[in-house]
Amino acid sequence: MNLQLLDKVVLITGGAKGIGAATARALAEEGAVPVIVDRDREAGEKLSAELSRNGARSLVIPTDLTSSENCSRAVEQTANELGKIDALINNAGVNDRVGLEQGSPAEYVGSLERNLLHYYNMAHYALQHLKRARGSIVNISSKTAITGQGGTSGYASSKGAILALTREWAVELLPYGIRVNAVVPAEVMTPLYQQWLSTFPNPEEKLKTIVSKIPLEKRMTRAEEIAAMAIFLISAKAEHITGQHLFVDGGYVHLDRALT
Ligand code: NAP
Repeated sequence: MNLQLLDKVVLITGGAKGIGAATARALAEEGAVPVIVDRDREAGEKLSAELSRNGARSLVIPTDLTSSENCSRAVEQTANELGKIDALINNAGVNDRVGLEQGSPAEYVGSLERNLLHYYNMAHYALQHLKRARGSIVNISSKTAITGQGGTSGYASSKGAILALTREWAVELLPYGIRVNAVVPAEVMTPLYQQWLSTFPNPEEKLKTIVSKIPLEKRMTRAEEIAAMAIFLISAKAEHITGQHLFVDGGYVHLDRALT
């Protein structure tokens, strides 16, 4: 299937590692130009060098997305250097465990800044370019929006808001032909996931328990499988899909619990 992504300029927040990096690689394979917006400069540059060795173009913008000025600058730099923006993949986030009991009103606001506000800011600043390109947006949410997790109010509520914004923007942007969809991962082995696992007394045991409950093939979802859905959604092959929440999770959220 030709996704017709050749020379498409795609902003990916959190593009240096994990799901974002897998998405950048998938885009590069399709001949698109991934723009890696991530605070981890070293990882971003390493990835960009890898893509370049494979003959692909990319741009790295090392920045912290919790500042709205940085979001604006990332969009501006992309447009200045590459001339257009065809798609935005909002992906950066961190399960920062700001809960009701372990947390405070100020920490809760901080979590929204880390997980939610930059999704709006990036879409807001990129909009004029997306209108011109009749582009599209993919928002990466999390199963926690649907299932809860306990002890992570900031993260879970951000991910829920991201699902609501996906529908809201899909409606608002209908007149411009801009499609907006969300991908909902559950269990994907990435640096973020490893960090979360390491907070348990016995991470290996915890991982085994989780994997045993994943209906399809009793395995973690691969970052490449989330990336494949994200790049399909921004492609011409998905041109009548908008406002959707796509669960790429081996049936983890929706299938019968008795299966496990
Ligand atoms: P990851 O391994 O931590 O990679 C994310 C990248 O984004 C990291 O390089 C990180 O830098 C960067 N980043 C985070 N916040 C940033 C900010 N404010 N400004 C700039 N860069 C920032 O994470 P991942 O597991 O791939 O997760 C990607 C997305 O998928 C997140 O939205 C996450 O909530 C969602 N998700 C993941 C899973 C899973 O199982 N992995 C499940 C559900 C949802 P640092 O390393 O410096 O933080």
